[in-house]
Amino acid sequence: MRKKIVAGNWKMNKTLQEGIELAKTINRQVEENEVIIILCPPFIHLSEVAGSITKDALFAGGQNCSSEASGAYTGEVSAEMIRSTGAEYVIIGHSERRTYFKETDEILNKKVKLALANDLIPIFCCGEVLAERQSGKHIQIVKSQVEKGLFDLSPEDFRRIVIAYEPVWAIGTGVTATAEQAQEMHKVIREHITDKYGNEIASNTSILYGGSCKPSNAKELFSNPDVDGGLIGGASLSASDFMGIVNAF
Ligand code: PEP
Repeated sequence: MRKKIVAGNWKMNKTLQEGIELAKTINRQVEENEVIIILCPPFIHLSEVAGSITKDALFAGGQNCSSEASGAYTGEVSAEMIRSTGAEYVIIGHSERRTYFKETDEILNKKVKLALANDLIPIFCCGEVLAERQSGKHIQIVKSQVEKGLFDLSPEDFRRIVIAYEPVWAIGTGVTATAEQAQEMHKVIREHITDKYGNEIASNTSILYGGSCKPSNAKELFSNPDVDGGLIGGASLSASDFMGIVNAF
């Protein structure tokens, strides 16, 4: 059975003190059930956030990792360093990384492999921009991102991947994909995985939706057969909104 997951991407928000407070509040409110909850704070918070977690269902994750293993890369943070904080997940290929930091499919593929080699579970993001959807290329774009980022992994490694479909036009805009749009793309992604890795692996891969997900729309999105949870930006900055989304399952 694939896992239900809700991950919060805090992006570049919260001071260290605010972040720890938020993590502790969420930790208190988490009920041990079948939903995996992941907090992805800024790097400087990661060690303390990971250390403040006492619930089995709650995990910490990075928002990015370097495409290099170690060495003279000023300002970078390696997968090994992230794992050493106690974090168990890392977001790779978020659209803000792809756009503002020019991260290509090739760079992201290197990051995925370094994450896996360091015992981190990658949350691999894919998604089209508005012009690509409007020109009818969205399916082709997303399939290509998944293929180039992940399809040279061994079946054993691919089993550890979590995918997040995040239409770029829905991120931080307040415009959410409809439940039908989300289900359509999640099904396409799962079928693409089936073609490459077979039905058993595809049906066990968690595919999350991201893009203006809120407590008010989470239930409708998560009730789709191929939507296994959410990657949450803005709404993950408030414990009540974030837990409202978790409780939508
Ligand atoms: C995100 O950045 O991953 C995201 C989904 O953001 P938001 O929920 O704010 O749209």
